[in-house]
Amino acid sequence: MQSPEYPDLLFVPPRAYGHGRDGNHVQYIVVHYTAGSERSTSAEDGAAYDQRRQDAVSTHYFADSNSVVQCVLTTDRANAAYSIGNRRGIQYELCGTLQTRAQWLDPASDATLTNAARQMARDAKRYGLPVRRLTVAEMRAGLKGFCGHVDVTNAYGLGDHTDPGPDFPWDVLLSRTQLFVDEGDDVTPEQAILLQSDAWRTHTIINDEEKVPANAPLIAGQPNLLRARLVGLETKVDQLVVAAAADATRDAAAKVAIDALATALAAAGGSVDSAAIIARIDAVAAAESQTVAALRAEVAALRQRIGAAAQAEATELLKP
Ligand SMILES: [Zn+2]
Repeated sequence: MQSPEYPDLLFVPPRAYGHGRDGNHVQYIVVHYTAGSERSTSAEDGAAYDQRRQDAVSTHYFADSNSVVQCVLTTDRANAAYSIGNRRGIQYELCGTLQTRAQWLDPASDATLTNAARQMARDAKRYGLPVRRLTVAEMRAGLKGFCGHVDVTNAYGLGDHTDPGPDFPWDVLLSRTQLFVDEGDDVTPEQAILLQSDAWRTHTIINDEEKVPANAPLIAGQPNLLRARLVGLETKVDQLVVAAAADATRDAAAKVAIDALATALAAAGGSVDSAAIIARIDAVAAAESQTVAALRAEVAALRQRIGAAAQAEATELLKP
């Protein structure tokens, strides 16, 4: 059965869950690990197990390396993080167990993070959850965002779960989620992984500026979209200038040839409007130089914005 909420997801309702949220609103996404295997069928296996298990445990989602399975609607309560965490949270079980950062970033777990991030971005948009990890004080104060099961444990003194573990790569999960929020669902998981690399961003900007919004935020300490865009634009300007120079050489030769042709035609008693042909060549060249000028203006504006933002960032960091 497909999810009534997100039709591209498989929907496997568990044996136990709560209807509604007892009047609460979704406040955060809770990240868990299953403490189980990380096979490509682990999400499906986990959902099937929740249909059988007798201890009433459930989750909203399982994510593994090739899919996300939804089990409980986000408007209902999954039984994963005690009463308060269940009422306020959307529960994500990442298939895997306690791991080092390097293990979380190996191919299987890395793909699991991406699949989870893609779905988290949808829920974050839907419920207006800022893509940041909350402190336990912020959780108690009712702020919206993301947390781990460990934070539910510490915020309310309930239970003893410590997942997703101290080495969980929150920076990677959250920056990837933010990318899906910014770029939308049409970014494939593969593209999202590639989007993590500045080299790919630069490449994308050169070939398709649309992929990186001009108003992309500067995020302190993270691969930076704006700087990548700047490098991409500068490269593009350089390429255009080289191409324009080659075009100018070719155009000059073409004009000489057209003049020679017109002279030969005139000698034979015919005629050709060589001025019109040359005017068209000049118009193409003028459009090219306009494109270069517009790109140079954008480069200058971006440099200014990045400079101002870096200044503000530095001021923030230097605050006592
Ligand atoms: Zn948990």
